[in-house]
Amino acid sequence: MIEVNNNFHLLPVSYLFSEVGRRVAAFREANPEREVIRMDIGDVTRPLFPSVIAAMHEAVEELASSSHFHGYGPEQGYAFLRDAIAEHDYHNRGIAIDSEDIFVSDGAKSDIGNLGDIYSRECKVAVMNPAYPVYVDDSVIDGRAGVLKDGKWSRLIYLDCDPENNFLPSLPEEKADVIFLCFPNNPTGEAISRPELKKWVDYARENGSLIIFDSAYEAFVRNPDIVRSIYEIEGAKEVAIEIRSFSKTAGFTGLRCGYTVVPRELKGTYKDGTQVALNSLWNRRQTTKFNGASYVAQKGAAAVYTPEGMADVRKATDYYLANAALIRQTLISKGYKAFGGENSPYVWATADNGEDSWNLFGKLLEEYGFSTTPGSGFGSKGDGYIRLTGFNSRENTEKAMSKIK
Ligand SMILES: *Cc1c(COP(=O)(O)O)cnc(C)c1O
Repeated sequence: MIEVNNNFHLLPVSYLFSEVGRRVAAFREANPEREVIRMDIGDVTRPLFPSVIAAMHEAVEELASSSHFHGYGPEQGYAFLRDAIAEHDYHNRGIAIDSEDIFVSDGAKSDIGNLGDIYSRECKVAVMNPAYPVYVDDSVIDGRAGVLKDGKWSRLIYLDCDPENNFLPSLPEEKADVIFLCFPNNPTGEAISRPELKKWVDYARENGSLIIFDSAYEAFVRNPDIVRSIYEIEGAKEVAIEIRSFSKTAGFTGLRCGYTVVPRELKGTYKDGTQVALNSLWNRRQTTKFNGASYVAQKGAAAVYTPEGMADVRKATDYYLANAALIRQTLISKGYKAFGGENSPYVWATADNGEDSWNLFGKLLEEYGFSTTPGSGFGSKGDGYIRLTGFNSRENTEKAMSKIK
């Protein structure tokens, strides 16, 4: 039999979401008369925008016509979309990122994992604790995490986030080669200011590190002092890759489209010391292993940058933000400590009495009839916390919060 990638053997079975589902189902069965509201939902619920739907209908008609048919597109994405991204997400915000720096993909999650192809297996990886689980699991699969001991991987550097540091981690004491940062953060919902992010850019410049900046939630930022793109920080183009997605911004979780920015200024070295632009490595990787995002999805994504599309992004994110604000205020008024939920759809909460995440999850489910995500599933520093999201409907969010009130 074939010898398989042993790193999968190291990977513990992720039971977080299945266990939440199992416990919710058990509660429903035991309490058929009670309604359960899902406040743990990690997916958008509003439909795609009319402008996106219209653009995709048009694209489908083109594919149905022999004179307008499109086959394989550019692996990097169509120019119409890369240009729209550069103009609206960067140039119009005073950031000099060009189409050549932008690679369109089928979403952020795949790019986060695929980027592991272009940095060395030897790289020491730093992750926030708690964090979106993909950064850790990809590092394990690629053989960069070492072994699991007492809930921590021996070769990963953990950047602890707690109320004492406002969920903004301190710079690592040992040298980190690759640093995953996510702001506005999933799961804590906390965002980062320019002076705080500048510390990381400076660290990366001094230490020759690469920052992979996940800004999947940038469209939820309302405060002008909060970072939307790492390239707002001077010098970031030489040290950072930025990952973006239309998923949470424009409801593309099922449709699939995102993009990754690899500025041409960002350089690395081969073993023999020869310098190389990461942009050309990523281009080589994508042209070899990827055949581009679907034409229909890219046409839909381009419509997000029309005036109607941009107004709809604002409306949809405002809707989820209002839900998050209601959740945060309600929890605080009932004596919980609640964080995030201001430039982010996520609220991170604790009873602050030593109660662990699963207990808190069980208590809220039994007493008030809503489900949450236990924070311990996002890393050891998540224990004692639960994550609630603004992604349910207004009606359901109000209903859940009125129960706790
Ligand atoms: C949802 C999410 C993603 C994944 O986005 P897709 O484009 O749908 O793959 C990436 N990063 C974070 C932090 C997320 O929460």
